[in-house]
Amino acid sequence: MAPAYDVIVLGLGGMGSAAAAHLAARGVRVLGLEKFGPVHSRGSSHGGSRVTRQSYFEDPAYVPLLLRAYELYERLERDTGRDVATLCGGVMVGRPESRTVAGSLRSAQQWDLPHEMLDAKELHRRFPTLTPADDEVALYEVRAGLLRPENTVAAHLQLAARDGAELRYEEPVTRWEPYRDGVRVHTAEDTYTAGHLVICPGAWAPQLLTDLRVPFSIERQIMYWFRPDGGTGPFSPERHPVYIWEDTAGVQVYGFPAIDGPDGGAKVAFFRKGTPCTPETIDRTVHDHEVRAMADQLAPRLPTLPGTFLKGVTCMYSTTPDEHFVIARHPSHADAVTVACGFSGHGFKFVPVVGEILADLALDGTTHHPIELFDPGRIATAPA
Ligand SMILES: Cc1cc2nc3c(=O)[nH]c(=O)nc-3n(C[C@H](O)[C@H](O)[C@H](O)COP(=O)(O)OP(=O)(O)OC[C@H]3O[C@@H](n4cnc5c(N)ncnc54)[C@H](O)[C@@H]3O)c2cc1C
Repeated sequence: MAPAYDVIVLGLGGMGSAAAAHLAARGVRVLGLEKFGPVHSRGSSHGGSRVTRQSYFEDPAYVPLLLRAYELYERLERDTGRDVATLCGGVMVGRPESRTVAGSLRSAQQWDLPHEMLDAKELHRRFPTLTPADDEVALYEVRAGLLRPENTVAAHLQLAARDGAELRYEEPVTRWEPYRDGVRVHTAEDTYTAGHLVICPGAWAPQLLTDLRVPFSIERQIMYWFRPDGGTGPFSPERHPVYIWEDTAGVQVYGFPAIDGPDGGAKVAFFRKGTPCTPETIDRTVHDHEVRAMADQLAPRLPTLPGTFLKGVTCMYSTTPDEHFVIARHPSHADAVTVACGFSGHGFKFVPVVGEILADLALDGTTHHPIELFDPGRIATAPA
């Protein structure tokens, strides 16, 4: 008997919702299974904003994927009428030799991306909320900005449903196994068969993908909202860029303009510096000492920002040892399963292009996008 679905997508968060949309658009029968409701805040794709940028300090190999992601974000906005991206500009700040500045410049130069280098005086003149030290500089990227994670997930779910995908919520996958030429997937409610399974488990990767043998570390991260002294006016998205700021110890703090109105404050977070957790045991309370540590980091750099602490929300990173993603056909089940995980705190800006890649891998077994960096074999541990 033919399987009931061509492709089942496990997890309808950032990556899974995009995969479901891209697969459904290609006319195949798609079933999406999600543990929680549509657009929830218990994984990695919530909190109102994400930084996007093209001058990628992590590795220039990401740039072609970013160029495609930008096109697809534009298309998503057009197709759904939802607000998903605001290109308010962005600054990568630090000493010239810092990874944030030097790495961003390397990508910008290698890919000929529009950018400007600003010295400390010029940075402060353009963006008076920022008070860099004399020896700090910034790479300014006019095409950087912010994405709205909840709107993005909602937009992809909308397109997936429009194109015929069946999306089932509050229905966690309990297990799956190879079956005939495809897979059989079990939930508490039912058992489903499909030609192929795409697993997008976010922070649940260590539980669902033990046989990948990738040592993921799941980290508790905090997003902080502060109301600046003097109000949010100078932080409005028409006047204020997103920023990533690296200190002399290599600690990166990043933040956003005030996008939640005059009382909503402006969001900041540490990039990395998380604490190990699991989705079941994560401490969702944000503690006073954590708020103080953030305020201390901000005070010399954005002196008006740590005015009044408004709220803190936790979120999880799923980090690989080299902080590069895992996107591939499953090495042990190459015909039947594709995986996308380990997005290491920087995946959101790639969401739509990852959806496109997953549709390619699921249906064709290959993609024209450059994904060599994301092969799990590079970081898999030896079998026990
Ligand atoms: C605080 C924070 C800040 C970030 N900032 C940025 C940024 O500025 N720029 C950027 O590019 N990226 C950023 N990221 C990273 C980015 O948000 C993530 O890489 C991305 O959201 C990961 O998407 P995902 O689909 O892998 O995970 P998720 O969106 O969490 O999706 C996984 C889904 O799988 C579901 N699931 C799990 N187990 C099962 C099961 N058994 N059955 C069914 N469903 C299941 C979960 O419920 C969840 O919905 C940030 C992340 C955090 C936490």
